[in-house]
Amino acid sequence: MTEEELLRRAIGLAAKAREGGNPPFGSLLAGPDGTVLAEDHNTSLTDGDITAHPELKLARWAAQNLDAETAAKTTLYTSCQPCGMCAGALERSGLGRVVFALSNEQLLGLKPGGGFAPVPQEGPALYEEARVPVEGYY
Ligand SMILES: [Zn+2]
Repeated sequence: MTEEELLRRAIGLAAKAREGGNPPFGSLLAGPDGTVLAEDHNTSLTDGDITAHPELKLARWAAQNLDAETAAKTTLYTSCQPCGMCAGALERSGLGRVVFALSNEQLLGLKPGGGFAPVPQEGPALYEEARVPVEGYY
């Protein structure tokens, strides 16, 4: 399949998610020849799991099912640009690249009320104690 066909398939998965009562997002993972290796859609509402984004599920699938060399040759095609949570998972997954349809900015234009409020973080603290289980691990 061409890149445009793969993106259209991801958009179709987004429609499927919506039809099933979930937020409208879909993704698939393709090998270098355009073969679909895995695909999924958002199931955060039906699963009651705020992390059930398709990009994160496919990043997890790749980490569990592909060796690093194979993962690096794959492309994630997704109906929308990965959110911050999924971008973090994708960095850890070792996938080769991401191709998205809607940008996050375009999504916000379609989403009344906008995005999520950041949770305030405080730190660093207790360095001398916190470093003990970490030091020497890496
Ligand atoms: Zn996400």
